[in-house]
Amino acid sequence: MYNKNAWEKYTAKEFDAVMEFSEGYKNYLTASKTEREMVISSVELAKKYGYKDIKEFKTLKTGDKVYATNKGKNFAAFIIGKKSIKEGLNILGAHIDSPRLDIKENPLYEDNNIAYLDTHYYGGIIKYQWVTRPMALHGVICKKDGTNVIVNIGEDENDPVFCISDLLVHLSQDKLTKTAAKAVEGEDLDLIIGGGITFKEDDKKTVKANILNILKQKYGTDEEDFVSAELEVVPAGKTRDLGLDRSMVLGYGQDDKVCSYTSLMALLDSSDLERTSSVYLVDKEEVGSIGATGAESKWYFNLVARMIAMQEGNYNELMLIDCLEKTFMLSSDVSAGYDPLYKGVFEAKNASYLGNGITFNKYTGARGKSGCNDAMPEYVAKIRKIMDDNNINYQTAELGRVDAGGGGTIAYIMGNYNMNVIDAGVPVLSMHAPQEITSKADIYEAYLGYKAFIKNIK
Ligand code: MN
Ligand code: MN
Repeated sequence: MYNKNAWEKYTAKEFDAVMEFSEGYKNYLTASKTEREMVISSVELAKKYGYKDIKEFKTLKTGDKVYATNKGKNFAAFIIGKKSIKEGLNILGAHIDSPRLDIKENPLYEDNNIAYLDTHYYGGIIKYQWVTRPMALHGVICKKDGTNVIVNIGEDENDPVFCISDLLVHLSQDKLTKTAAKAVEGEDLDLIIGGGITFKEDDKKTVKANILNILKQKYGTDEEDFVSAELEVVPAGKTRDLGLDRSMVLGYGQDDKVCSYTSLMALLDSSDLERTSSVYLVDKEEVGSIGATGAESKWYFNLVARMIAMQEGNYNELMLIDCLEKTFMLSSDVSAGYDPLYKGVFEAKNASYLGNGITFNKYTGARGKSGCNDAMPEYVAKIRKIMDDNNINYQTAELGRVDAGGGGTIAYIMGNYNMNVIDAGVPVLSMHAPQEITSKADIYEAYLGYKAFIKNIK
C-alpha cells in the first residue's frame, strides 16, 4: 500500500501487535545507547533465538543460524538458505553508532570549584540542543594491564547524572545575536562532572583530585587511563511513549537503532529461507563509515568469504565476487520525517510522513544528487511488488527539497560491490537531536517490510 496511513489498516489484533512490538524496541533502545552496548544486546537477542557464534561451526548447511562480532562494535547474523551462499545474499544493513559527545583523551580539569570533562562531538549535531539536559556516561576504560572497565553512570534512577551548562537569559543579550551555529560552540560542550568537594593530594586540596579519587575507588583507574578510554556522553533516561495516544516513540539514538532493531528482529523471526539472509550492523556511519568497524571495512566481506569456504569445502575469489554481484540489500536507515512545523524544507509529494510506513529513498545525496546511491529502477520495481504482495505500507521520499541540504548512508559503499542496494527505513523527526521521534506504525511496517524482503527478493 503506497502512501497511506498504516494506522487505518490495523485490526484490533494487529494494533496490539504494533504496540507490543514497540515495547521490545523501547527496552532494547534504552539498554543500548552505544555501539558496544548494541552489539552486546544483539548477541543476547540472537542467542535467545537459537543463533550460535560462527566460531562453533566447522561447516555450514541449510538452516544454520550463526552470528559474528568484530572488535565489540560490529555484529552480523545469518540464516543459511536452501541455495548456496555463492548464489548471493539478502542483506539488511544498518548502523549502530549515533551522534553524541565523546570524552577527550586528556579531559579532566577544574575551574572555580567545578570539575569538567572536555568533550569532542561525534557526528552531525546542532550544538545548542545538547546543553542543560541530564546526561549519562557510557563506555569502556582500557587499562594497561589488559583489563577493561565498563562504565555506565546516569541511567539508574539512583545514579547521579551530568550536565553541560548554558548562559542565563538575563545575561544573553550578546549571545542571542549570534547565529544558531555559533550560539554554543564545540569547545563550550564541557560536561560538569563534579562540584566543590575537595580531596587532598600532594598537600593540595582540589575538586579534580576528588573526582579522580572517586574514579579510583569505583574503577581502580588513574587519570592517565583516560588516554585509552572510549567514553560517550549521551542523554540519560529511558525511551518513552510520545503522545496521549501513545502512537510514537521518543528516545535517544533512534538513528539508526530503530532500523537496526527492526532489521535484526526481521531476521530472527524468519526461517526456512531460499537465499542466505543476513543482518549487518556497522559502526562509524555518522563520521563517514571509515575504519575497521565502519561499512568500508573488509570485515563483513572476509566473513562471507570464510562462510563460503565453510559451506563449499573450498574457496576461490570468484565465488565471493559472484556472491556479492547476486546480492540484494536494503540499507536500513532512517528518513527525514516530514515536520509540519518546518514545511519549507520539504517537498510535500516526495516526503516521508509519520505513520505512512517504511520509507524507500531511491537516492539521497546533496545538490545534484552528489554522493548518492541511486537505486536501479528495475530493483525498485521488484521491491514495490514485494511490499504490495505482502500488504506493507510503504512510501518514497527524498531528503528534503532540492538544494535544502543533503546527506548520505552506507548504501553506496555496499553498491560498490555491484550489488543492488536501496535505502529503506523509518521516518524520524528531530533526527540527530538528543531525543528523536518515530511512529510505532512505521517501526512495525519496517519490521514487516524487512521480513518480506529477505523472504522474497531474488
Ligand atoms: Mn542514519
Ligand atoms: Mn545520522
